[in-house]
Amino acid sequence: MPKTYLMYISGKWVPSASQKIFPVIEPATEEVLAYAQAGDAVDVDAAVAAARAAFDVGPWRETTAQERGRILFRIAEKIRAESSSLAELEARNCGKPIVEAEYDMADSATCFEYYAGLATKITGQVNPVPDNAISLTLKEPVGVAGQIIPWNYPLTMAAWKLAPALAAGCTCVIKPAEQTPLTLLKLAEWFEECGLPPGVVNVVTGFGEAAGAPLVAHHDVDKIAFTGSAAVGKMIVKTAADTLKRVTLELGGKSPNIFFADADFENAIDGALFGVFINQGEVCSAGSRILVEKTIYSKFVEAMAAKAKTIRLGSPLDRETKMGPLVSKDQYNRVRDYQELGKREAKLAAGGGRAVAFAKGYYVEPTIFYDVDNSARIAREEIFGPVATVIPFENERDAVRIANDSPYGLAAAVWTRDIFKAFRVVKGVRAGVVWVNHMQPTYVEAPWGGYKQSGFGRELGPHGVDEYLEVKQVHVNLNEQPIGWY
Ligand code: NAP
Ligand code: MG
Repeated sequence: MPKTYLMYISGKWVPSASQKIFPVIEPATEEVLAYAQAGDAVDVDAAVAAARAAFDVGPWRETTAQERGRILFRIAEKIRAESSSLAELEARNCGKPIVEAEYDMADSATCFEYYAGLATKITGQVNPVPDNAISLTLKEPVGVAGQIIPWNYPLTMAAWKLAPALAAGCTCVIKPAEQTPLTLLKLAEWFEECGLPPGVVNVVTGFGEAAGAPLVAHHDVDKIAFTGSAAVGKMIVKTAADTLKRVTLELGGKSPNIFFADADFENAIDGALFGVFINQGEVCSAGSRILVEKTIYSKFVEAMAAKAKTIRLGSPLDRETKMGPLVSKDQYNRVRDYQELGKREAKLAAGGGRAVAFAKGYYVEPTIFYDVDNSARIAREEIFGPVATVIPFENERDAVRIANDSPYGLAAAVWTRDIFKAFRVVKGVRAGVVWVNHMQPTYVEAPWGGYKQSGFGRELGPHGVDEYLEVKQVHVNLNEQPIGWY
């Protein structure tokens, strides 16, 4: 019998107020892996009240930066100690290969370690005002943070949001994606022993409209940090306007991966495939538009297609697996629709359908379309699955023009041995992250986020904690003479 998970509110494990639960499906088997609580506005109210109390009157306000850092270190240690069971749960819940899930667990721990260290480095400033006075800038926690995360990197996305918020001194209500709540719920089981007081982090599970929307609308939530689709991001901005709460958005992308003829050919082919197919292509920064210089274009498409056909699909728990099933039936249907659309819009070089070797599970073939026009829907819309579009370009100018011809601006990569060209493209491309001769490495030390409709605000690095801080200006008059104005 699959386990039924409760929600974590005010340091207690509770069912949803409505008593409703929903099944969490294992994408490789299509069977029920667990049940989770279907939280709604009533549960969000309870969670926000707990977070509010913990912030306003609870012990968290008096918890020193040193102590917050120690708590974050303990959480990191716990993730490392339990990483194999967490990775297995993550792989089963979202379908990603176990080897990738293990990386994710290490990354999640690293994120807690980074912000553990940063907690004691949050400092203000002294401002050089001209009067006989001292002018200070203080940094203070923004308050109660509502955090809404997607299903593609469940624990890592939770870490990116919780760790900087706690380092800053905020309290949190976090809602995992309906498809993948399990690793975060597992992590919450250790919060108390790691030293987090009740109410500092609350986990509400449930659906976007029932549990996410009331969190965004809530008058006692000071900030929303959201990772997910641009469509939901736009709704969040509109709803948040009513209470003028702070919002940061990490949305999707249609990132260009640009290959010049002078790039190392073998590395380039690997980089093109890795850039778009890692995590089944369910990556916000997926290099899903592969721009290739005309002189190597045919050879490039052929080599990519040949290698894509060797990518090993399989059980997420098999260490040899390089690609697992998509996260859900919905996502499978969505990606299948785009595969069919692609056949009408462009030419097919590899894949294009369901992975027929699997009787069960949401498996699709790694798919490559070529001779794609950048105006085609498969080149403009985020597919969020293993579907690559290859687009030829004439020259550097042309490459930058096509790269920027997108509503999104999350990431980009450029491959060349010419450092002058590489940096000109880096400057020319409007994206929040640009890689040269690589695509996808992401570091907790370095900022992450998008231009244009890929969102605003930055996660990770010092920027990540700034998004959870308010700025207070303090003026201290040192002049004891009367002000003498009237
Ligand atoms: P989504 O539908 O936007 O959902 C993201 C989260 O928002 C989920 O927890 C979802 O709940 C919740 N949500 C849905 N409707 C809501 C509403 N009306 N109010 C408040 N919350 C709501 O995206 P997804 O399909 O889960 O994830 C894929 C998308 O996320 C892709 O577009 C991808 O690009 C983006 N993404 C971006 C990044 C990044 O770093 N920029 C990282 C990962 C993913 P439910 O689970 O119930 O739908
Ligand atoms: Mg959704």
